[in-house]
Amino acid sequence: MTAVTLNPGIQNRNLPSYLDPQHLGPWATYLEQVERVTPYLGQLAYWIDSLKRPQRILIVDCPIRLDDGSVAHFEGYRVQHNTSRGPGKGGVRFHQNVNLSEVMALSAWMTIKHAAVNLPYGGAKGGIRVDPRTLSITELERLTRRYTSEIGFIIGPDKDIPAPDVNTNPQVMAWMMDTYSMNTGRTATGVVTGKPVNLGGSLGRADATGRGVFVAATEAMKQVGVPLEGARVAVQGFGNVGGAAARIFHDHGAKVVAIQDVTGTIFSSAGIDPKAALEFLRRTGKIVGFPGTETLEPHELWTVECEVLIPAALEGVITEKTAPLITARVVVEGANGPTTPAADDILLEKGVLVVPDVLANAGGVTVSYFEWVQDFSSFFWTEDEINARLDRIMKEAFSSLWEVSQRHKVSLRTAAYIVACTRVLEAHALRGIYP
Ligand code: GLU
Repeated sequence: MTAVTLNPGIQNRNLPSYLDPQHLGPWATYLEQVERVTPYLGQLAYWIDSLKRPQRILIVDCPIRLDDGSVAHFEGYRVQHNTSRGPGKGGVRFHQNVNLSEVMALSAWMTIKHAAVNLPYGGAKGGIRVDPRTLSITELERLTRRYTSEIGFIIGPDKDIPAPDVNTNPQVMAWMMDTYSMNTGRTATGVVTGKPVNLGGSLGRADATGRGVFVAATEAMKQVGVPLEGARVAVQGFGNVGGAAARIFHDHGAKVVAIQDVTGTIFSSAGIDPKAALEFLRRTGKIVGFPGTETLEPHELWTVECEVLIPAALEGVITEKTAPLITARVVVEGANGPTTPAADDILLEKGVLVVPDVLANAGGVTVSYFEWVQDFSSFFWTEDEINARLDRIMKEAFSSLWEVSQRHKVSLRTAAYIVACTRVLEAHALRGIYP
C-alpha cells in the first residue's frame, strides 16, 4: 500500500445524519472502542471510517393481526455493518428497547467478533422492538414471519444469516427458516442458524455460548492465578448464555453465589445449584424464592464478593457507577457490550481482567458457523467433534489475543480490536472501493 495521510474522519466522529449525536446509545460505546484502537492500525487507519458506519440498514414496519382482531405495528431492523470478509451474520433480538443505535452497535460488534476469532463472516444484527412476553405464541409466530418476509430480500444462506439472540430461540429460527423457504420456493436450512436439531440445527449449539464463556473464563483465570475449584461466580442473565455458563461452572467445581435475571436477584454464600434454580424458574416463573438463597436488590449484584463476574444480559450495565463496586478478578462478557469504555478504564486500573464480549461470547456464533457448514455439506458432526473444535477455537483465540495484549501492553479488548480491525480493513483494502 502507498503512503497515505490520515482521513480527517478519524479526527472527528463523522456521524451519519440519521443518528442523533445526543442519543448515540451503544453506538457511542462501539465508536469509542474503534477510536481507541485506531492508533495501533498503522496505514490501515486510512480506511477506519468504513467501520464507523454500517454498510446497509433496513427498517421495516411489521403489522400483525392480534388475537383480539386488532392490528398492531412493530418496528423491525436488520443492519449489515460490514461484509468485507464474508456474508453478514448475527442474531435477531426481540426486546421492547430495540432501536437503531442498539442494532447498529450489535451488528458492528459481530463484525469485530468474527474477525477477532477468524470466522469467515461480516457483521449483521436484527431486532424487533417488542416485549415478546406481551404476545401469545401465535402472535409471536405471525410477527416473526412478517419480519422475516420484510427483510427477506437482504438475507440468505450466502448473504446474511440470522440466529438467536435475546428472547429468540430455536422455534423462532424454525419459523424464520420456513418463511424464507416458502418465499423462495425451496427448503433453505442454511438461511438461519440456531435451528432445532432436526431441521438442520447443530448439536452443541444450545450450550455453545455458555460453553465458550466457560472456556474463555478458565483461560483468563489461569493467567491471573484463580483456581477453578471453589471459585465464586456471579451471573447476570439466566437465559441461554448465563444459564448454561452457570451450569457448566457449577459442574466443574466452581461455586455460583449470585444469579440475576429480569425477575430478581438471588444470593447464597454456600452456592446455588443452577440446574435446580433453572427448574425452579421453569416451574414458578421466577428465581426469587429459590430455597436456600436470599433475595438481593438488583444493584447489589455488583457488590457480591466473587472471583468471576459474568454479565450475560444486556449492554451498558458495567458503568462508571457499577465498575468501582466490582470485587471479581475476572469479568467475562457473556452479553454483547455490557461494559462502557469509562468502566473499562476503571476495571483496568483496579487490575480486573476483562474478557471482552467479542472473545468471551464468540462460542455461540462459532457453533453457528459449524451449523452453517454442516447445512451446506448436508453432513452432520457428532457433539464431541463440535465441542472439541469449539474448545480449540476458543483456546487458540484467547491465547493469540492474550499475546497481542501483552506485546502492546493493552487490555484484551483493545487487543481483540487490533486483530479484528486489522483483518477487516486488510480485506477492505484488498477489495478496494467499488466502483
Ligand atoms: N446472537 C449471538 C451473538 O451475539 C449469536 C449470533 C450467531 O450465532 O449468528 O453472538
